[in-house]
Amino acid sequence: MAKVVVIGAGFAGQTAALYLGSALGKQHDITVINKYDVFGYTPSWVWVGVGQMNPEKTTFKLKPVYDKFHINFLQGTATAIYTDDQYVLVERSDGGGEEKAAYDYLLIATGAKLNFAGTPGLGPRDGYTSSICSLPHAIDTRDRLFETIARMEKGERQKIVVGTGHPDATCQGAAFEYITNIHKLLEKRGLRDKADLLWLSNERALGDFGVRGLHIKKKGQVMTSDNFIRSVFDLYDIDWQVQKGVREVEPGKIYWEDYEGAEGETDFDFTMLIPQFLGPGFTYYDKDGNDITSKMANKGGFVLVDAIYGLDWDTLAETPEAWPAVYQNRTYKNIFAAGIAFAPPGSISRPHVNPNGLSITAAPPRTGMISGIIGRITALNIIDLIKRGRMTHAERMSEMAAACIASMGDSLWDGSAATIVIYPVVPDPRTYPNEQGRDMFVTDMEMGLAGAWMKRMIHSTFMHKLQGRIGWKFVPE
Ligand SMILES: Cc1cc2nc3c(=O)[nH]c(=O)nc-3n(C[C@H](O)[C@H](O)[C@H](O)COP(=O)(O)OP(=O)(O)OC[C@H]3O[C@@H](n4cnc5c(N)ncnc54)[C@H](O)[C@@H]3O)c2cc1C
Repeated sequence: MAKVVVIGAGFAGQTAALYLGSALGKQHDITVINKYDVFGYTPSWVWVGVGQMNPEKTTFKLKPVYDKFHINFLQGTATAIYTDDQYVLVERSDGGGEEKAAYDYLLIATGAKLNFAGTPGLGPRDGYTSSICSLPHAIDTRDRLFETIARMEKGERQKIVVGTGHPDATCQGAAFEYITNIHKLLEKRGLRDKADLLWLSNERALGDFGVRGLHIKKKGQVMTSDNFIRSVFDLYDIDWQVQKGVREVEPGKIYWEDYEGAEGETDFDFTMLIPQFLGPGFTYYDKDGNDITSKMANKGGFVLVDAIYGLDWDTLAETPEAWPAVYQNRTYKNIFAAGIAFAPPGSISRPHVNPNGLSITAAPPRTGMISGIIGRITALNIIDLIKRGRMTHAERMSEMAAACIASMGDSLWDGSAATIVIYPVVPDPRTYPNEQGRDMFVTDMEMGLAGAWMKRMIHSTFMHKLQGRIGWKFVPE
């Protein structure tokens, strides 16, 4: 009987757990370790943050799902991995102290560690900014936003700043959704004229989103995501500033450096800024108790896998096979990493270092869809290894399509959404020898009411799928 441990029950870990449970649950020992006893549907935290969705609608209990799939659940925080002795050290959430979770195969799917400390003054707990990156944050942000709205109702003008709070932040898509949803909310309440909205981001250009932006062909014309987002911001009267790396926040003031090395500040009454994302930050030990973390993870704590690391960016941009295919650690072949937890070989967008030596570069996103796909691939390979002794599944981000629907107001009558399809996520200039290295027939952007319907449907469909309900396998990641 093989022991499989999955750390993290998010998009990657939960998808993997369902595949592992359905294929192996009855004959083998599958355990999921997660900090919380619920799954959290991150994309809808944008709506929680503007008071358009009840927080409870974005979660479900994990244990009943795992019971159905013959999976053990250990609620706790994994802290260390003993790679030779093959166990994970877990701090139990019930106060029961530390527990060892033994494995033959380990999948690390812990998502992003939110590094608020990386920017002094950032974050809702020790700083002065809001966040929608966790459910408690989104609830707190909603309350702060409504305090801001109450001031507008009294006639005060308010400045709202949304974007990235670290020079290397990613997840611009979520921040973009948030600012457009705030616009729609204020419009609905007849308060739009009482607010100045500003987009502040580390992207090279509007619509870069950490994927080098998009170019699409429509009726023979080329349109860029820069034009697309610019037209949305013009329409919604949202000011914007890009190429800004936020260095520090004080009450009411954001301090940044730009691409040219100039320093500047931006005032705010309310701000939601995405922090830097880090990897799980485990300590890894070998059989002699030596700390081998530097061999298992990069400086950001992301798990090293079968990527080609260390290439300069121009070479990486020409080498799609540098992106990992099976997400397997090269030293310990029974350890895999999926979703945000794996270490990418570099950024997708061209990096920039300003004259002061500050890197201002949008980090590569691993969105929900990408994380789910990688969760499936790693699970199927672990199943393969257990049943057949060899892996048969592989998919690089340079071969993967991703669809993203950025809602701009959730109403099914007058809401809207930007629907973005990108293929491949990491440009592959060899297969697609155009300037963008992407399939111009598949890559697309659309804006309209249909997207708002799709975004709603996707919420329900994913909550259905990730609870392992009937037909879950037929719902694509
Ligand atoms: C506000 C917001 C909106 C977004 N909207 C979209 C969208 O519309 N579409 C899209 O595709 N993507 C979206 N994303 C991105 C998407 O949420 C992430 O890409 C996705 O969640 C990553 O999946 P993951 O499995 O790697 O991590 P997660 O989903 O974050 O899951 C990680 C899990 O691991 C657990 N964990 C972490 N550390 C430990 C530990 N040490 N021990 C035990 N458990 C641990 C966590 O509690 C969590 O349950 C959004 C992100 C945000 C923040």
